[in-house]
Amino acid sequence: MQSPTPEAEREFSTPMMQQFMHIKRQYPDCLLLFRLGDFYELFLDDALVGAKALDIILTKRPRGKDGDIPMAGVPFHAADAYIAKLVKAGHKVAICEQVSEPGKGIVEREVVRIVTPGTILDEKTLTAKEHNYTMSISIGDSSVGIAFADVSTGDFQVTEVPYTEQFEQAIANEYVRFSPAECIVNETSYNDPRILGALRKERSLNVYYFPEWDTHAKNAEQLFKKQFNVKTLRSFGLHDKDQALKAAGALFGYLSHTQKQKVSHVTTVRTYASDEYVSLDASTISNLELFKTIRDADERGSFIECIDETKTAMGGRLLKQWVREPLRVKKHIEERLAVVDLFIQERSIRQKVRARLQTMYDIERIVSRLAVGISTPHDLINLKVTLNAAKDVSELLTDVSKVPALFAEAHASISAVSGPHSIAEKIQSLIVDQPPFDAKEGGLIKRGVVTELDALHDGIFDSKQWIANLEQRERERTGISSLKVRFNNVFGYYIEVSKPNLDMVPKEYVRKQTTVNAERFITADLHEYEDKVLRGQDVINKLEYKLFLELIDEVLTHIVKLKEVATHIATIDCLTCFAEIADRERYIKPTITSDGDISIFDGRHPVVERLKDTSFVPNDTTLDARDNQLLLITGPNMAGKSVYMRQVALIVLMAHIGCFVPARRATISLVDRIFVRSGASDSIGRGLSTFMVEMVETAYILNHATKDSLIIMDEIGRGTSTYDGISIAWAIAEYLVTNPERRAKTLFATHYHELQDLEKQYPDHIKNYHMAIEETHDSPVFLYRIIRGGARGSYAIAVAKLAGVPDEVTKRSTELLKQFNTPEQTK
Ligand code: ADP
Repeated sequence: MQSPTPEAEREFSTPMMQQFMHIKRQYPDCLLLFRLGDFYELFLDDALVGAKALDIILTKRPRGKDGDIPMAGVPFHAADAYIAKLVKAGHKVAICEQVSEPGKGIVEREVVRIVTPGTILDEKTLTAKEHNYTMSISIGDSSVGIAFADVSTGDFQVTEVPYTEQFEQAIANEYVRFSPAECIVNETSYNDPRILGALRKERSLNVYYFPEWDTHAKNAEQLFKKQFNVKTLRSFGLHDKDQALKAAGALFGYLSHTQKQKVSHVTTVRTYASDEYVSLDASTISNLELFKTIRDADERGSFIECIDETKTAMGGRLLKQWVREPLRVKKHIEERLAVVDLFIQERSIRQKVRARLQTMYDIERIVSRLAVGISTPHDLINLKVTLNAAKDVSELLTDVSKVPALFAEAHASISAVSGPHSIAEKIQSLIVDQPPFDAKEGGLIKRGVVTELDALHDGIFDSKQWIANLEQRERERTGISSLKVRFNNVFGYYIEVSKPNLDMVPKEYVRKQTTVNAERFITADLHEYEDKVLRGQDVINKLEYKLFLELIDEVLTHIVKLKEVATHIATIDCLTCFAEIADRERYIKPTITSDGDISIFDGRHPVVERLKDTSFVPNDTTLDARDNQLLLITGPNMAGKSVYMRQVALIVLMAHIGCFVPARRATISLVDRIFVRSGASDSIGRGLSTFMVEMVETAYILNHATKDSLIIMDEIGRGTSTYDGISIAWAIAEYLVTNPERRAKTLFATHYHELQDLEKQYPDHIKNYHMAIEETHDSPVFLYRIIRGGARGSYAIAVAKLAGVPDEVTKRSTELLKQFNTPEQTK
């Protein structure tokens, strides 16, 4: 039953509930998981919400004058899975631990971590090859700051975009690239329907109001100077970007708030400007199916799946960043291409390197867990294994014929953490190879390394030995051959005698417990030795835990180097992956230029060619700033126009990320932006009609394209009546060739054959192409070859026939078509 007093104001008489309420009031927006022995309990309203979300039993604690207190609990050892479930359902969870030893009075408790969709660290919930970002935005008068941080890896990036009429589009472009799990805003933004609307367009994005947003934004400069121990933020590019700094400061404050200050793994902030990379707007990313398919929103069948054969999680995440941020500097692209080339030639080294990469764990996520204080001894072992494998990789790379700068840099940072006297060696010397899961259980530190620990072990050695030999001694003394000495957590050590032998039990045995078949006893001597062992073991466990924490602190002093190693490993992983695919799939090295010409010989679509059972038909492309600026492509549905145009966009994109390309020869001039606008796709969820979506996206292209851009326009003007459609498509094509600022290289597919006349009007810019068709007597055969000139028929009725539309309908359409084509006869 609902309490008449608002829950947050209720007073309780028991000290524990008073403590609960005191803490709960500090975290009103979180479900508070309150540690009680081996359980985390949810109380009051939290219990109602949590029990429903977790599908667990809601119980009640009768508490005298406090009434019944609803509660629901989850066992502490299985908590991660429950927390993940709550967070997935959009809740924020505050984890409240017992922080003092049980003794007199109530145990002290405090919140040690807040888990939210963007700050979850549970390994099983995170996807290895994907970042999990939290976003923060700051809206100023003339600019918008947008920051992204992944607390599970320490990655922190920020940018600033101008505040224009289309700032929502700019925000969308960024969040589609980063795909954050959560966004935090201040009160003003949270109450601004336009901003909230722009953010909530992405249905999976949780948007939260963070009360301390403004305070952290205001103190951003001090926060970062302290975190990075620097006097100026100039080297981070943040000194002159007010909104970027605010967004980043608030986000950093949020991470500190959720992790309770433990964010030493955020070692840098990267300020990027979208013009440093080939810009890919939200609809281009979606239409090119770079990260997921349009139809199933699944990675299967996407471009990334096709080129991701990385062996490590770090490599997988970096590859996604490369695809998000294709390079615009020729030298940088060529550096990557040169290494890919080298790895293609050095096949045996490449394969050995990839085999070592396969054995590596995720350095970035291990380091993050160490930094926020949730690591296990296994993290240290996995770090050691990974650093040793990195050392092998770095040695293998010294054998290549020509060592590029990248390898030398990788070698330097890897040796700093994996050689003699390194952190890897320290872990090796201190931690046993197969440690327990819980660092507080003992048994994780090797013997013979720490004198103090060895002395403690020696101190209880005699007592342990005495207990170990007790079974044999007592069997001989009592004549009970089945007598056993055992240990359990509840009773400690005991002597067990089975029922038939009970009459032989000596009188000094004191009975402790009866089981079905036996009785359990203790003796005064056993008790004394047990006490010595248990107390000694307790001291040992505490010391081992202390040594474990000290080792973590030492590892954390190398955090910058470890992150450098992670980046080098990720880079090598991506480049060997490119080489592997290029070698197997017959990709070639593109020539990168800046003269404005794109020429592809026998280009293929990387995804479609792999999906097809039959052979894929390659095609050539010539695009330039002269008479091949806009290629107008006609041809019936299903003839291969979309595949062709997307393959050109993907080949250009691949060249810009330093990947070899599916073609026989390719010369690619640098582009500044790639726009892909395709098909009529409704966005009813966004409240926009097909035609409106089409026009919003077209407007964006026409306002942002430059002469260095690549535009793919697939069937524009489709969502309206024929004459409206033709007129709009016509005017768009004309705009792109007559406006010198906007003369982007363009592939323009249309089913409006009327547009073919544009070639005659603009022979210096436009060329007509069509998809070749072989006409057989009953149906057209698609050849998937692009050839010069305009298409003659649209074959729509033939396609309808192929699709199984009844003969009656197709015959009638043929008649009607004849009439429409000779209008005077229809009058
Ligand atoms: P359109 O855009 O002209 O309607 P699509 O580009 O969607 O046609 O292509 C239709 C189908 O034809 C594709 O799904 C693919 O299976 C096949 N196809 C397209 N291009 C080729 C090609 N070059 N080689 C082989 N098959 C192709």
